[in-house]
Amino acid sequence: MNQNSNMTSLIMIFGATGDLAKRKLFPSLYRLFESKRLSEKFAVIGVARRPLSNDEFQASVKESIQSALKKDENIDEFASHFYYHSHDVTDSGSYQSLKKLANELDGHYGLEGNRIFYLAMAPEFFGTIALHLKSDGLTDVSGFKRLVIEKPFGHNLESAKELNRQITTAFSEDEVYRIDHYLGKEMVRNIEVIRFANAIFEPLWNNRYISNIQITSSETLGVEERGRYYEKSGALRDMVQNHMMQMVSLLAMEPPIKLTTDDVRAEKVRVFRSIRAVEGEKINDYFIRGQYAEGIMDGSEVPKYRDEPMVDKESNTETFVAGKIMIDNFRWAGVPFYIRTGKRMEAKTTKIVVQFKDIPMNLYYQTEKVLNPNLLVIHIQPEEGITLHLNVKKEGGHLDATEVKLSYANTGVNGMNTPEGYEKLLFDCLRGDATNFTHWEEVALSWNMVDKISAVWEKTKEENFPNYASGSMGPKAADELLEKDGFFWWPVTDLDVDNCGCD
Ligand code: NAD
Repeated sequence: MNQNSNMTSLIMIFGATGDLAKRKLFPSLYRLFESKRLSEKFAVIGVARRPLSNDEFQASVKESIQSALKKDENIDEFASHFYYHSHDVTDSGSYQSLKKLANELDGHYGLEGNRIFYLAMAPEFFGTIALHLKSDGLTDVSGFKRLVIEKPFGHNLESAKELNRQITTAFSEDEVYRIDHYLGKEMVRNIEVIRFANAIFEPLWNNRYISNIQITSSETLGVEERGRYYEKSGALRDMVQNHMMQMVSLLAMEPPIKLTTDDVRAEKVRVFRSIRAVEGEKINDYFIRGQYAEGIMDGSEVPKYRDEPMVDKESNTETFVAGKIMIDNFRWAGVPFYIRTGKRMEAKTTKIVVQFKDIPMNLYYQTEKVLNPNLLVIHIQPEEGITLHLNVKKEGGHLDATEVKLSYANTGVNGMNTPEGYEKLLFDCLRGDATNFTHWEEVALSWNMVDKISAVWEKTKEENFPNYASGSMGPKAADELLEKDGFFWWPVTDLDVDNCGCD
């Protein structure tokens, strides 16, 4: 982290009338303001195409906060820092007036020439905006300049490289904050602490004691109104390239020398470099795809993916991916990291299950079943916490063992939800801490892996689509992926903290 952190800044939000700005960015900035983590010396310029006055923009900012947070203390004072600039980002002419407004606000609020440019817009505009910021002099500042960029970062390695080339003409790598909102989640940030702050885990965190790791991120929702985008993306690009691979890297990385941005990122990059390269026909042994059929969810019938709005009736797009990732280094040789993610699944949950190896021999018997392996479950969302599955003596029994679950639930302890991911990420950006943002090398290596999978999937139409019922945990092939290695998916709903059976 930059020790000379300075929260004074002008924040320019491109796409300020959009969904992300209203639902996440304005409420997060307000919470930072309310908790005094945002300097009083700040100003926001909202940029979007629609003509709006400052008053109308401020009213929409206030409305979004009231609707998201049901709070409005000091809201007028907060909103008075917001200014609106109607501007088509593809129109070269309007950057000069944006620059003039930025310079005026810089002087008025004493912002020390610090600027954050937040691109909350469709990705096709990212490169154009970055190039204009440079050519029209908006990045010529006396303070810091940072670019915050939303996903998706490219559509494949080639387009990601081109986008990176464009943004790095105006910003150096350490000024680019690529958002992966999973890295704003409390329990994703906790993976590092669980591993490196507990003497009972780190010595066991390797192929001698861990048999496999399972990461599930499932949604109950279908594609909703995003059919047009999703048809081109699919679960592989939408979830695996970024969020799933980020969780893999945090679980697998070596302890960093220090918790600095460079040290943490360097270890994550080494994980990406160690991932077994699989291509061609071999892909089918490691990755499987699914697409949802109709089904019953919450008592109502839901349509199949191919019947969703703006989706091709013959669509070959995957709404589910399961995969086996092998990390061919000394620590992880032989330990599969299984990932699965999909829409219209049985439960909305993100969980990591670390399954430890069986003990050398079973001296105890459990009624009707073999001894359970120890599991460490990290609950990412909606629950936040950890559960450790252990074996103890069965009450009253003689040589019987039974499973108990030791649970820690974050929400239970704090009595409130932890702050929104975006609030933490914005705070990090204001402080100049890029640790929880993705480095270009991580993005490139991850695209390289994903491109090899999509090359095979795009070439061959999946004849079995749709291949899983809405409301299920995915296609049969996802179970077979583990079965052939002698494993099975731990049923995520049974692992909930609420199901721990503890008082
Ligand atoms: P949106 O369509 O709701 O908003 C787009 C914004 O861009 C609007 O303010 C619109 O006026 C503006 N805009 C469009 N064309 C313009 C132009 N030529 N000139 C100036 N302004 C223009 O989109 P969104 O849902 O807010 O998403 C924005 C970005 O955030 C996308 O990259 C998306 O992938 C990402 N994202 C969104 C969410 C979410 O929850 N909405 C979550 C994660 C990532």
